[in-house]
Amino acid sequence: MVSANAIRTLYRLHQKGFRAYLVGGCVRDLLLERTPKDFDIATDATPHQIKRLFRNCRLIGRRFRLAHIHFQDEIIEVATFRKSARSFDEMDMEMTEPDARPFRHIKDESGMIIRDNVFGTPEEDALSRDFTINALFYNIADFSVIDYSTGLNDLAQRLIRPIGDPYVRFTEDPVRMLRAVRFAASHDFAIEPDTWKVLCGLSSTIARVDSSRLYEEIRKTFFFGFSGPVFNLLDKSGLLAALFPYLSLWLSKDNNRTGLLSTNLEGFDNMYRGGASPSPALFFAAFFGPSLEEEALLRKRDGIPHQMALDAACAGFMEEIRKTLNVPRRVGSQLRAILGLQHSLHRKPPRRPSSIIAKPEFSEALAYLRIITESVKENKTILEWWDNFLLGSLSAVIQEPSPAITPKRKRRRRRRGNRPKKETVNSNTTVNS
Ligand code: ATP
Ligand code: MG
Repeated sequence: MVSANAIRTLYRLHQKGFRAYLVGGCVRDLLLERTPKDFDIATDATPHQIKRLFRNCRLIGRRFRLAHIHFQDEIIEVATFRKSARSFDEMDMEMTEPDARPFRHIKDESGMIIRDNVFGTPEEDALSRDFTINALFYNIADFSVIDYSTGLNDLAQRLIRPIGDPYVRFTEDPVRMLRAVRFAASHDFAIEPDTWKVLCGLSSTIARVDSSRLYEEIRKTFFFGFSGPVFNLLDKSGLLAALFPYLSLWLSKDNNRTGLLSTNLEGFDNMYRGGASPSPALFFAAFFGPSLEEEALLRKRDGIPHQMALDAACAGFMEEIRKTLNVPRRVGSQLRAILGLQHSLHRKPPRRPSSIIAKPEFSEALAYLRIITESVKENKTILEWWDNFLLGSLSAVIQEPSPAITPKRKRRRRRRGNRPKKETVNSNTTVNS
């Protein structure tokens, strides 16, 4: 189950006298007999030594230099062992001259690490990692698994346990709380009980993380087919209220709403499991759509036309959410389009369905309709109508003779200058339309 490129990279490092370990999520997943998402390698070779060994290598990263080994179909990340943040506590310093002293950990006044790029030993590297199950190494030199903490034991017990004191580790990097939730949900593991208590107590600090990093982490957390269980854990821990206060308030007003969102997210997850790759905008629609549509409805009651009410609700939402998550504006406009199209999709019978199909967000809008149909059963007939219509359009396309098979019509020769220019333009238009 290990990629051939990863094996090749490990052996090349090993043959040149360096240590070469598979590290992190791939070792965890291999031991659980799950297919790893990607393969990361750690070594005692420095980034420049790695670069000299591989022609297909690029060095990346400002915070910590990493080597990317480029293969035709994948990139293998090779990092030099780094030191534990905890062993550098005594060297903490202020952020005054970060570039003047690059090989130090820098924490802000609350204890959050804002820079750490210190090379270290394999053990220091393992202990700087977030959870015990993510700190296992596979050594290509003797095919052994190295466990510097309690990773193997915790894997057997299906436990998410931070390395070291959970309070310190979550304070150093609050993103680790989201990661704990992600692994618990995606691997069906439990978060160790004392860790869970600390996590609930620190949940509000998640909002301090940089908004671009937080958006990336939220993408990783929700977009892999486990958003239902993730939502449940975020809600229980208080992370949801810290990340999305308005959604949390909306949920608290009606007990049925949590169930409604869970069903929507299950629908979203099923799309992943079915092999589709739904867009971030569809996730935002499944997650925030019901509250936004309700808000639009309230504005509509005040006499504002439907589409304008929806525009205002979406604009307000984007402004609010971008305070914590750097959601790209493009995703905001797609979300607006998905929700905006629902009105046309629901018309019985829909007006000019072919022109609705031609809209760029049609398929995502239909996917949203499919998702919410699980909880709003009345939508079933309208969804069936669209499925039949699509089927009809598809068979019409299939029955049309393919241009490759149709014999080419012989071009009539015209004498130069015979054909007026205007006619040429018209005939082209007809062909295109
Ligand atoms: P996935 O299969 O979802 O990619 P992963 O464990 O490989 O899971 P990555 O985000 O790819 O997760 O990170 C790779 C490894 O880097 C982790 O297994 C962990 O050892 C380490 N790591 C990542 N983020 C942190 C963090 N915030 N603090 C400490 N260690 C981290
Ligand atoms: Mg990974």
